Amino acid sequence: MNVDALPPLRQVIAEHELAARKSLGQNFLLDLNLTAKIARQAGDLKECDVLEIGPGPGGLTRGLLSEGARRVLAVEKDARCLPALDQIAQAAPGRLQVINADALELDPLEHLTPPIRVAANLPYNIGTELLVRWLTPPEWPPFWQSLTLMFQREVAERIVAKPGSKTYGRLAVLSQWRSDARIVMTLPPEAFTPPPKISSAVVHLTALPEPRYPADPQTLQMVVARAFNQRRKMLRAALKGLAPDIEDRLIAAGIKPTDRAETVGLEQFCALARSFKA
Ligand code: SAM
Repeated sequence: MNVDALPPLRQVIAEHELAARKSLGQNFLLDLNLTAKIARQAGDLKECDVLEIGPGPGGLTRGLLSEGARRVLAVEKDARCLPALDQIAQAAPGRLQVINADALELDPLEHLTPPIRVAANLPYNIGTELLVRWLTPPEWPPFWQSLTLMFQREVAERIVAKPGSKTYGRLAVLSQWRSDARIVMTLPPEAFTPPPKISSAVVHLTALPEPRYPADPQTLQMVVARAFNQRRKMLRAALKGLAPDIEDRLIAAGIKPTDRAETVGLEQFCALARSFKA
């Protein structure tokens, strides 16, 4: 049997009694046309290993395999999903490895061979945490070429936000400093079973070979975290604790001391971070 001949996902869920659990962020995609479409957003998978977090009953996993992924490593916390995933593995011999683990605890790299792409319909409760980890590795370029990730729409908008918008903040700076980030699909609640309360969106991030502007990652993260922690305050007040001459440093970085964090662009944040490193 090949992947496209597997039974419909509703049948799989009924057979394996996979009633969705809220505690695990389980909102399943059962429309295989839709999961194939998401898989296509991940780019050319033929030469790549794909890391998928939270395959659940395997809708997106099937999409990734049908779209030609060289190998998929799927990390699923819920052991109830394993028999359904095993059926997929049998239909795609040697191309699907499933690990029953918490994605926050596992280092998947020992099971993957570059080039690597990441694709996932993430559990909402760990999505942002995983994204921040993938964006802040010790070395750049990171282990991944691209991330194609489903988020709550509001989180997706924070990732791609530009200065001046209400949703612009730490997540936008971290995402856009070293990658290109775009929203490539939006999905209404009814696309999922059970439907969540809010809409969702798929974000595609491509790793840049070099950061857009030079800066030490830790210093940049620290400056940006402080600046947005008190986003209503003028930066000379929000960053006061960082250095006695903060106003001079802001001016040298091209930032007005009376500006608020949400109006400051990436280039200026990087210049400010460099002043601390120096
Ligand atoms: N990919 C499937 C789909 O699109 O239908 C399921 C997506 S559902 C939103 C999230 C999945 O992540 C669930 O299968 C859930 O069991 C799994 N999950 C939740 N927490 C996890 C964790 N810490 N590590 C790995 N998987 C997790």
